[in-house]
Amino acid sequence: MFDKILIANRGEIALRILRAAKELGIATVAVHSTADADAMHVRLADESVCIGPPAARDSYLNIPSIIAACEITGADAVHPGYGFLSENAGFAEVLAHHNIGFIGPKAEHIRIMGDKIEAKRTAKRLGIPCVPGSEGAVEEPEEAKRIAAGIGYPVLVKAASGGGGRGMKVARSESELEQAIGMARTEAKAAFGDDAVYLEKYLEKPRHIEVQVLGDGQGNAVHLAERDCSLQRRHQKVWEEGGSPIIDTATRAEIGGICARAMQELKYLGAGTVEFLYEDGKFYFIEMNTRIQVEHPVTEMITGIDLVNEQIRVASGLPLSVTQSDIKVEGHAIECRINAEHPATFRPSPGLITYFHPPGGLGVRVDSAVFQGYRIPPHYDSLIGKLIVHGRTRNECLMRLRRALDEFVVDGVDTTLPLFRTLVRNADVLNGDYDIHWLEHFLAEGGLDEKESG
Ligand code: ADP
Repeated sequence: MFDKILIANRGEIALRILRAAKELGIATVAVHSTADADAMHVRLADESVCIGPPAARDSYLNIPSIIAACEITGADAVHPGYGFLSENAGFAEVLAHHNIGFIGPKAEHIRIMGDKIEAKRTAKRLGIPCVPGSEGAVEEPEEAKRIAAGIGYPVLVKAASGGGGRGMKVARSESELEQAIGMARTEAKAAFGDDAVYLEKYLEKPRHIEVQVLGDGQGNAVHLAERDCSLQRRHQKVWEEGGSPIIDTATRAEIGGICARAMQELKYLGAGTVEFLYEDGKFYFIEMNTRIQVEHPVTEMITGIDLVNEQIRVASGLPLSVTQSDIKVEGHAIECRINAEHPATFRPSPGLITYFHPPGGLGVRVDSAVFQGYRIPPHYDSLIGKLIVHGRTRNECLMRLRRALDEFVVDGVDTTLPLFRTLVRNADVLNGDYDIHWLEHFLAEGGLDEKESG
């Protein structure tokens, strides 16, 4: 087991990792930018090192500074959290070169899954169902037209290096295809420095359903059921639940089994998420995230398994603490991502939190690094906390979530709490009747403005 873990992240996920390390009796090192000198992750860690100025590229993405921080403190492993360096294969290799453990997958798997074309090819080879589409990158317009005609319109042009929903354009007919490819290429080039694009069947009303997996790197791997993350805004998840309101036990076992077997064959190491679109009873692989995800607590609440603890165990060479038959789904959990943003316009609202009162009680978990008197810096994402609620049934979970949201007070900055208070009372949400476009339509129709309490 590791003796000292350096956490190359900030905010709530840095706290989450600190908690797992402390429970394992492992010493912790926080790193921080000058803007985060007073942050909670710095206060709670055993040691801390300032790694640079506020801009992420100069601090949380600054590999030489992070390696230096490991050497100064004697940390023998790094947990990257999510975002920042978590899916950077080069970072994992540099750490290995310095004899420092990386709490994440093997560099080769990060690299495969980071290239969407390669990821799809690998998924297909491993028996994971994929969205129909081009075999690889498309080059010439004539070739693209021929492939699109074969797939059938509408088609989606996607960037091979895509992320965060960028570099994606829909073409509803052949006349729109050339322009869609041009736009996707330009956007991809600007965002990722790579203009390779590929084609996929555009699914009109899918749900986003993802399977949590864990592997020990030796060929043992398990699945921990699914999460439904269909409520999205601009391809960003807003509300996540598990299990999905529309997946039954047999379907869960089937898709989970496919993912677990694929990870066994890959000899996957650590935590990962296999993401699917789900339409008309069929799963279509879209990508795999090779890291812990923001919404991982949903899975922890329904399985009772500490995913970060398992990540640390397997990265240090220990086996998983559970086998597939140990993993049982009990009850239902929902997570709301609470951002410091205006609830209707989503304009970021950094600044001083003058009052903070998180909800509590049975089945309520708040993962947050903010506190009363904390000033949210403008340099990073606007997540101020995640409210995760568990109930024995989905209805009990919704009832509990409603009262937990009503208890939650954050003063001084705008938050998205009013959006969730509206969603948790909406008939479609209550019925679990939504697809990946539902929230955008709801917001476009002014669903929030009418009822927003401010
Ligand atoms: P990114 O890495 O940019 O997040 P993904 O491939 O994960 O890209 O897709 C992000 C989101 O875009 C999905 O959650 C879904 O909402 C939408 N999407 C992706 N592929 C398709 C598709 N073939 N048809 C319809 N929507 C899609």
